[in-house]
Amino acid sequence: MALHDIGRNTEREPETAETAAAADDIAGPARTTWLEVSLIVPLGAWLAWQAWGVDWTTLGWGALFFVSCIAAVDLIPIPAWEDVELSLSFPIMIGVAMLYSPPIAGMIAIVGSSDIHELRHERPFLRSVWNRSQMALAVIAGSGVFHQLTDVHARWWILVPAALGATIAAYAINAILVALHAALQHDLTIRHVLRKMHGSRPVEFLLSYIGLALFGVVIARFFIEEGAWSVVVFLAPLVFARQMYFQSRVMADRLAGQNELLTAQAERLAHLLRKESATVDQLRELNRMKGEFVAVVSHELRTPITAMIGYAKTLRQPQFADDPVLREEFLERLERQGNRLVGLVENLLTASRLESDQLSISVGRVLFEDLCRETVEGMGTDAGRIVTTVPDDIPVLRTDRQLLGRILSNLLDNALKYSPEEATCELGARAENGDLVFWVQDDGIGIEPDQIARIFERFYQVDSSSTRRFRGAGLGLSMVRDLARHLGGSVEVVSAPGRGSTFTVRLPMQAPAEAVAG
Ligand code: ADP
Repeated sequence: MALHDIGRNTEREPETAETAAAADDIAGPARTTWLEVSLIVPLGAWLAWQAWGVDWTTLGWGALFFVSCIAAVDLIPIPAWEDVELSLSFPIMIGVAMLYSPPIAGMIAIVGSSDIHELRHERPFLRSVWNRSQMALAVIAGSGVFHQLTDVHARWWILVPAALGATIAAYAINAILVALHAALQHDLTIRHVLRKMHGSRPVEFLLSYIGLALFGVVIARFFIEEGAWSVVVFLAPLVFARQMYFQSRVMADRLAGQNELLTAQAERLAHLLRKESATVDQLRELNRMKGEFVAVVSHELRTPITAMIGYAKTLRQPQFADDPVLREEFLERLERQGNRLVGLVENLLTASRLESDQLSISVGRVLFEDLCRETVEGMGTDAGRIVTTVPDDIPVLRTDRQLLGRILSNLLDNALKYSPEEATCELGARAENGDLVFWVQDDGIGIEPDQIARIFERFYQVDSSSTRRFRGAGLGLSMVRDLARHLGGSVEVVSAPGRGSTFTVRLPMQAPAEAVAG
């Protein structure tokens, strides 16, 4: 198609070429039909009336040649680039407008113009006839203007401005009709469509059509002076150059797109690399902590075992056989070291089960006061340092007794450990809003504010050096936090260096369903 191509980008209006094609397939709304009919009918009638008076024998093969030329050029698919399509049938139409009278030029345009969609029956019949008719009208206007100004034999300084006048008239008629049609079809204003038609590169668009008008002059003069073959020789390289030009621009765009994609992918890779290296750093830190943990745990295991072996050896000595008081004292020390060992191993087992999500819970009735008494007694000789202020009206809990006991013993163990030898600590509790709230308060060494956020991390110890004062594997508080969560609760700490710490645990009276299932 020729002039109609000028506005082809307008038909992409809905958003994309595909949606426009779909809009084409469904015959346009009814309001475009009257526009189509009101152009086609009078134009057809006028052309038929004009055809009546034409002496066809005087036309010769020229008209047929131009019909074939326009059809052939139109059927070569043009790669669209940024919505600009350069129509080469346009200069032929301008040549035709210069060579023939308006009705003959109109007839050549209406017969010659074709479209690949038309041949594939992808466009409704009425729409195809409309396309051809509006093109014919544009060529008729161009021819009318040109013949008003001069004829094809005029000198070039008259010919060129007249051809430009014809081009402007043809272009204006075509643009207005295409815009009107698209505006009605997609319910837009004509101004909006016209702006869209010339949108992305208006200057390039205009220059290309003025250039094509000059080609029209050349085609008309070549035809008159050299014959049809010269037009073919002129057009063939032009068509080839056009194909190459658009193809290369499409390729350049595609390359630019791929370049952008590659840049984006490179950025993503760099981002992933940064994340990866952060993960590696984390893993390295974890590895370091695990190594440290193994050293700490080995030390923690060796100390009571060495002590126990020492006590056992001492007890075997004959002088102890007759001293029941000393025997009793050593046996008690042996038991205490054994309990310490059991506590540590239990902590390790619980931590490992928590980590692998295999910690089973057995919910039962728990009298908190009883559990506190039992746990305090389990602290051995240090039990006397614990002041218990648990009221006896705490409702019966439905939770896991053993796990709650581990929370209590870990907190009490820390409170005693991080306080001076003779200092006491308090274990208190109250019922609050349907929850059990209990706390372990000491007047010990306290915790630096910047350490508070880290003490609940697994393996973390404020002082993990080999010369540290306090025993421990860095597992106690992480387990307290995990167990409290497991039983549906939470733990908080308030502490100041040198002024002691208070660890407060809040638990529901009834362990939640998922914890029970867990
Ligand atoms: P650890 O086996 O070292 O006691 P925890 O996980 O129980 O490990 O505690 C982590 C760290 O928190 C300890 O190394 C200690 O520095 C600090 N901490 C815990 N409880 C107390 C407390 N009651 N008073 C002061 N510091 C405490």
